[in-house]
Formats: sequence, C-alpha cells, structure tokens
Amino acid sequence: MHDFENIAALARLLGQEVSFDTPLCDYTTFKIGGGAKVFVEISDKRALCELVKSAKENRIRYIILGKGSNLLFDDLGFNGVVFHLGSSFSKVDVSENTITAQAGASLISVCRAALENSLSGLEFAYGIPGSVGGAVYMNAGAYGGEIKDVLVSCEVLCDSGKTVTVFNKDMELSYRHSVFQNGSSVILSASFKLDNTKSKEEISARMNDLMGRRKEKQPLEFPNAGSTFKRPEGFFAGKLIEESGLKGYTVGRAQVSKKHSGFVINLGGATFKDVTQLISEVQKRVKADSGQFLECEVLIKRFDD
Ligand SMILES: Cc1cc2nc3c(=O)[nH]c(=O)nc-3n(C[C@H](O)[C@H](O)[C@H](O)COP(=O)(O)OP(=O)(O)OC[C@H]3O[C@@H](n4cnc5c(N)ncnc54)[C@H](O)[C@@H]3O)c2cc1C
Repeated sequence: MHDFENIAALARLLGQEVSFDTPLCDYTTFKIGGGAKVFVEISDKRALCELVKSAKENRIRYIILGKGSNLLFDDLGFNGVVFHLGSSFSKVDVSENTITAQAGASLISVCRAALENSLSGLEFAYGIPGSVGGAVYMNAGAYGGEIKDVLVSCEVLCDSGKTVTVFNKDMELSYRHSVFQNGSSVILSASFKLDNTKSKEEISARMNDLMGRRKEKQPLEFPNAGSTFKRPEGFFAGKLIEESGLKGYTVGRAQVSKKHSGFVINLGGATFKDVTQLISEVQKRVKADSGQFLECEVLIKRFDD
C-alpha cells in the first residue's frame, strides 16, 4: 500500500482528485467491477504525464480509463492505479475543418461539435459511447466508417516519457487495432480532419439515422460493452453464435442478448465470473460448430493482470 499512498499523495500535490477503493462498476458500461486501489480523476496534462512517469519508475500497475465502454473489470477490482480521463479532460477545439479533442472528451461530443460546424466524416461514430482516447486505442468503427478514416494525428505520452506527435500512418490502424495496444503509451489528444462540403441537414440526417439503427438493433436497455467479439474475417460473430443455438444463452445474470447475439448483456447483478464463463462457453461452442474462433473485442482486466 505504501507505493499507492505515495502516488496518491503526488496526485493530490499536482491538484488531481484522488479516491481509494473506487467501485469500477460505476465507471464501466457493463456495470461490473470492484474497487480500484487508487483512482485519479485527471484534469491536467502535465499532472498525468508526471503520474504515469512515477507509476512506471515505481513499478506500480496502472490503467488509463476512458468511458469504460470496452472494458470488463474483475469483481475483485483492480490492484493498481486507475487514471481516469473523463469530463475534466475533455476540451474540444474546432479550427476550420479540423477538430482537436482531449482524450477524455466523449466521441459523441466531438460528433456534435462536427455537426455544429457543418463538418462531415464522423457521423459513423455518433452513438459509440467511448472517449476520444478509447476510440483511437480501439480504432473504433461502425457502419462502414472507422477512426482511421478521419484521424490525422495524436499527441501521445510515449513509453520513453516524452510527449510526441504520432501521425495516422504510424498508428497501425486496422480493424479494432492500433499500435497503442502494443505498448503503454497514453493518448493525450487527437486531431480529426473533416469534410466541409456537406450541409448541416445532411450530416444531422445521417447521424440520426445511425442512432436510430443502434436503438433498434442493440440491447441498449441493458448494461453491456458493445460487440463482445471481433468479427472473424468473412463472418459475423452474432450470426455464428445464433447458428450455435446460443441466442439468449445465460450464465448467472449474464446473457447472450436475445435482441443481438453479438452482445453479452448484464441482466442486473452479473458478476465478472458470469460474463467470463459465458464468453468461454460461447467461444468453445462456436469453435466446435463452425471452426471459427471468436476473439474477444471487450478487454478483460483481472485484479492482478
Ligand atoms: C452500447 C455500445 C455500443 C458500442 N458500439 C461500438 C461501435 O459501434 N463500434 C466500436 O468500435 N465500438 C463500439 N463500442 C465499444 C466502445 O464504445 C469502443 O471500443 C470505444 O472506443 C471505447 O472507448 P472508451 O473510452 O470507453 O475506452 P475504455 O473502455 O475506457 O478503454 C478501452 C481501452 O482503451 C485504453 N484507453 C482508453 N483511453 C486511453 C488513452 N487516452 N490512452 C491510452 N489508452 C487508452 C484503455 O486502457 C483500455 O485498454 C460500443 C460499446 C457499447 C457499450
């Protein structure tokens, strides 16, 4: 605990809000997860850089948390420090056809800023409930678009402790993958280049249409973390799951959604074990029936990972 106390003290000294044993279920869309040993609400870039540096030097486990919409935390919690990039780190600037947003800004607020300024290109992302940092990290995408298509560059705190600009071509962006998944860099902000030739009405119509499709197809009435599995090339995870007869399959309080088999939902009170067991069983049965392995898209964080 000594190291945790030191980093908490440093965070306070740097003016950041600190709490202990903070329930991660309150910070994830799955509504699952026990306490984080230390939870720091980040509001300042320099403080974040200092804190990450200190955590590395003292070999303290840490994680960057955005909107928690692609994460499943252990019921035991996280045995380390959570640096939360949320509304206190969410400035959005628009300059001509470029939007630059701090990593904690919600993707939805960036989409709204684009609409306000009649900038097109981010309509696909309207409805993805992640942060800018999480969306870059995951190369989030939907309805034929992905972050890769509009991202110019990011300001990144890299493994060496330096703050650098990383350009799109160097981010290895592909289906739900970015170079940031290979290391421990922190995305501080991102710049998106958009198209200024469309009207506000066209942009708004597309955004509303896609939001409507989400509401119709996705089990948004239950806590979940989006598509549980990645799409195996040439297949749809939901279809494979249905073909294995697993629509509605339930373990404890976790269920393969009856509305969309690609989503695992929390019926209320689901545990980490319920979800991980259900995921393993789905993977086993789909592999046996179709030969396809369903890789998890949701990131699973055990207490001591
Ligand atoms: C209802 C619903 C619908 C969804 N629909 C889609 C969809 O259409 N398309 C899609 O791609 N995804 C979708 N998702 C999944 C999720 O919203 C995206 O993956 C999103 O990009 C995750 O962002 P986040 O801020 O929530 O990341 P988190 O879940 O907080 O974190 C995810 C990972 O990113 C890392 N990370 C976060 N911020 C940073 C940062 N600043 N620097 C470095 N690493 C960071 C975290 O450490 C973690 O490893 C959906 C989820 C839900 C619940």
